[in-house]
Amino acid sequence: MRPSTSRCPFAHAARSPPPASCLQARVPDASAASESAPVYDLVLMPTLSTVITELEQLAPLQLAADWDNVGLLVGSKRPTIDRVMTCLTLTADVAREAVAEQADLIVSHHPLPFRPVNQITDASATGGILLELLSAGIAVWSGHTAWDSAAEGINASLAEKLSLQDVSPIEPDTATPAVGCGRMGMAPASSTVAELAQTLAAALGCPGCHVAGPADRPAGRVGIVCGSGGELVAEVAAAGCQTLVTGEIKLHNALDATARGLAVIAVGHHASERFAMEQLADRLASRLPALHCWASATETDPLVWLPTPSSL
Ligand SMILES: [Zn+2]
Repeated sequence: MRPSTSRCPFAHAARSPPPASCLQARVPDASAASESAPVYDLVLMPTLSTVITELEQLAPLQLAADWDNVGLLVGSKRPTIDRVMTCLTLTADVAREAVAEQADLIVSHHPLPFRPVNQITDASATGGILLELLSAGIAVWSGHTAWDSAAEGINASLAEKLSLQDVSPIEPDTATPAVGCGRMGMAPASSTVAELAQTLAAALGCPGCHVAGPADRPAGRVGIVCGSGGELVAEVAAAGCQTLVTGEIKLHNALDATARGLAVIAVGHHASERFAMEQLADRLASRLPALHCWASATETDPLVWLPTPSSL
């Protein structure tokens, strides 16, 4: 995506040396070892179009909510690329990392832009980020609710971390009922809400989490909605769940949940989703070994618990 003649995958043969990510092996030219330049076996770098095809096998866009903005949001599909960075949210700090690390593509879970924009100027935070990425030739692709709902997506991964049994979507996709919005399944026998909360916090590296409702009762059937799950309280209760696991929830949604007999475990929006962007980087790298993929190293949860003197 960076404007350069080196984007041609064969151009490295005439340059020295090619990036390590393009080399399968360095092979000396035995017939003219004394004088000629070394010969390289080149691994073709994929086009952005090919990378997107792989991403959309992992997160089929038809699974996205109709209000969402997913797919390729910035850039052209034509150039070959070799550096992909994933992140949860494309902030100015994350964009700076992408530029400094010469990323060709950012796979951002939360779409940027999300809402339609009328101007792309540095008068707004979104405009400033988009300008910086455009001038650096960095593309943006977002999976968002498609990755939430996918077979190996965020909610399915959370169900696995909690060892839920008989897992199915809360709202199955009409075309592919095995996947869809949210997941639900049975917690391990006799596991309480508190134990499930501790399992989740430990798995996600959180110091703790919010719990609403009686924490010492069996977790039972558990509904999972990553990110902000408060809007789906009625659906999760109607699906026969006794516990809702989500990232964040508003007070009134939590009260609505407990009034319906639903305990709530809220581990934090960032924690409930960020781990899956690390998984997505690994999955993409294993599908396209010529790519160098990583999850943003600068991205952190902007919300941290600050212990007060009385709690120390
Ligand atoms: Zn989210």
